[in-house]
Amino acid sequence: MTVSKMPDENGYFGEYGGQIVPPDLKVIMDEINVAYEKIRNTDEFLNELHELYSQYVGRPSPLFYAKRLSNKIGGARIYLKREDLNHTGAHKINHCLGEALLAKYMGKTKVLAETGAGQHGVALATACALVGIDCEIHMGEVDIKKEHPNVTKMKILGCKLVPVSRGTKTLKDAVDSAFEEYLKDPQNFLYAIGSVVGPHPFPKMVRDFQSVVGKEAREQFLTQHKQLPDIVTACVGGGSNAIGIFTAFLGDKTVDLIGIEPAGKGLDTPDHAATLTLGSKGSLHGFECYNLQDKQGNPLPVYSIASGLDYPGVGPQHCYLKDIGRVSYDVINDKECLDAFMTLSRVEGIIPALESAHAVAYAMKIAKDMPKDKMILINLSGRGDKDADFVAEVLDL
Ligand SMILES: *Cc1c(COP(=O)(O)O)cnc(C)c1O
Repeated sequence: MTVSKMPDENGYFGEYGGQIVPPDLKVIMDEINVAYEKIRNTDEFLNELHELYSQYVGRPSPLFYAKRLSNKIGGARIYLKREDLNHTGAHKINHCLGEALLAKYMGKTKVLAETGAGQHGVALATACALVGIDCEIHMGEVDIKKEHPNVTKMKILGCKLVPVSRGTKTLKDAVDSAFEEYLKDPQNFLYAIGSVVGPHPFPKMVRDFQSVVGKEAREQFLTQHKQLPDIVTACVGGGSNAIGIFTAFLGDKTVDLIGIEPAGKGLDTPDHAATLTLGSKGSLHGFECYNLQDKQGNPLPVYSIASGLDYPGVGPQHCYLKDIGRVSYDVINDKECLDAFMTLSRVEGIIPALESAHAVAYAMKIAKDMPKDKMILINLSGRGDKDADFVAEVLDL
């Protein structure tokens, strides 16, 4: 099976993915898959989604030549796919709109999700406000205290915010809480997963919604430069922005694709989230993938300076692409990330999200040893307003 036809009918990318869920939930997931396959091929759905991409999100996002950054480093030319300029400031709106629209087309009454730092919550609440469907977001009380601006935005956008006070009062407990609510009426609710993870069909659907990013970037390169980039790179948390930009280039053998995981405080410490780099095969949250897990198979605590990257699993398609060698994966640590964050801000006037700064740091690292006629494309997945106060504190600005 060619990569572009994946996953197979059971939701597998090679040995990864699938539906590791109880039988009654499998029935529901299969229904979502059938509905999605039917709807995705209708002009009505595609036209509505693409009109929202252009009129609401502001697509296509620009392809920007970071000339001053490239000159400063003195090697390959660096280009940015500006997902930070999307409405709500990141790539997440691309799949949240797809999920909210799917819920509407399926006649669901409520969209549910958990959120950690609040980025997925805000993007989903935005999409649901636009589409006109109820939205309920579960969030740990510890995170609610930490992420005040996002909490306020979700309230303004009209979603129901459910504080979670059990356990560690963070993301993990928010997942359990949101999932329990979902199971009360999965016929009428849609659980909107925030990345290319979870049981089939979510890794496929979220990839399809995000693949607009790479499709645009590839066309922009061909139109503006009459050639393709040599390297395409993106940060990997669950893997949605990376698969979004990689998909269009999978068949281009001359284009190297490189995903960047967070090395946090170092791969020799427990404080990282380098799932593909150091993980092993297991299952998590309803699907099979590389995992950072202990000997009993329980997920290990993970860490990154970028809260959007600290997930102990990773999308199944990335696992497959790593195994077949089509995509390679490397790491960037907190310090390199902060350095790239400041450099891009000061040399180009673009404040990147700390997540995206991992990909920027990697490009900076490899560009200097590459000839000047080579081109590196970075998916700049989001803007850094959310991280500005934190960075100023850490660097004592
Ligand atoms: C959430 C987020 C990520 C990580 O998620 P992926 O699914 O790996 O893309 C990366 N960048 C930004 C700006 C985010 O908000």
